[in-house]
Amino acid sequence: MSDKLQWIEEELKKLHETGLYNNIRTLSSPQGSWLEVDGRRVLNFCSNNYLGLANHPRVVQAAREAMERYGVGPAAVRSIAGTMDLHLELEKRMADFKGVEAAITFQSGFNANLATIPALVGKQDVIFSDELNHASIIDGCRLSGARIIRFAHADVDDLRRVLKEHRADYPRALVVTDGVFSMDGDIAPLDQIYEAAREFNAVLMVDDAHGEGVLGRGGRGIVDHFGLHGKVDVEIGTLSKAFGVVGGVVAGNKLVVEWLRQRGRPFLFSSAMTVPDVAACLASLDLLEESTELVDRLWENTRYFKEEMQRLGFDTGSSVTPITPVMLGEAPLAQQFSRDLFENGVFAMAIGYPTVPQGKARIRVMISASHQKDDLDQGLEAFCKVGRSLKVIN
Ligand SMILES: *Cc1c(COP(=O)(O)O)cnc(C)c1O
Repeated sequence: MSDKLQWIEEELKKLHETGLYNNIRTLSSPQGSWLEVDGRRVLNFCSNNYLGLANHPRVVQAAREAMERYGVGPAAVRSIAGTMDLHLELEKRMADFKGVEAAITFQSGFNANLATIPALVGKQDVIFSDELNHASIIDGCRLSGARIIRFAHADVDDLRRVLKEHRADYPRALVVTDGVFSMDGDIAPLDQIYEAAREFNAVLMVDDAHGEGVLGRGGRGIVDHFGLHGKVDVEIGTLSKAFGVVGGVVAGNKLVVEWLRQRGRPFLFSSAMTVPDVAACLASLDLLEESTELVDRLWENTRYFKEEMQRLGFDTGSSVTPITPVMLGEAPLAQQFSRDLFENGVFAMAIGYPTVPQGKARIRVMISASHQKDDLDQGLEAFCKVGRSLKVIN
């Protein structure tokens, strides 16, 4: 091998030494509360399958039927020959579900952010971005070329301070925040952020990837949670988490959606969502609209698990959602904890830098409506045992 790639080997070695190397496990079963992972049957505490829809019979059946009628691949980008009536149906249904004027789908939530931010602001403009925003927001901001000004996490006073200081220097401004923060499970104070953005005439965008299907009435998301209908210009959503499929969506003002059909680069230069994905999302939407049962069970499970973890003495941080971080500090401890849990039949991944700041490594437990009470109790027992043996709790 030539020397020019030697640096990668050195970097990888450093990752191993610091406990930050990603050990990627392999599943050989469908998603659900129990999985087969690396040849073992384990309790699933780490996927984003909030409502258990990833392997729901109706969702699978919808994908199968659509493939029989339309085939699999879209064979084109949306703006050439890749827009099927199914895509338009999903977009209309998503807009109705969320109570907004219009919606447009993308191949993923990541792509939805990469499409939207550079379409809304450019080199001469400014973005005010929460310091803990998701990587796809950060990348979208960078791609836009706009000046990026970070504000302290979920701190509206700090947002107002930077708006006051910088807003007037730029023609257009965007305020962007995660709705639910994916590593901590806390919720952005969107009602107050809305007031600040309005006062300073900035476009407001929220990424509701972990709020879609989770927050609000029947899982209608963060805008519904705060009753801000018609006030948030752009909502990014994902179809890859609670919806159980894969895809992204941008919902909100119809001018923004129309503009994204003309200028959203992943819409114009990357092929459309596939047929089974779109059909599966429509079935997930049917299930969400028919009943709040799954969303209700998700929250019941969340409350139970969190209370019991706190009773055991674990620090679950500032979470108020089904995302339950178990704060451990240093990355090697978090990795050890995760390995020991796995030995005890529980699959929960350690998360370290750069996904979370240095010294804030954790296990992140993802609660799902698909968990039975027995599952949660088994998980709690494993956490208790490992927590004691590693002296995290007494
Ligand atoms: C998961 C996530 C995304 C990416 O969504 P995908 O559909 O998986 O690409 C974007 N933003 C946030 C805040 C997320 O948590």
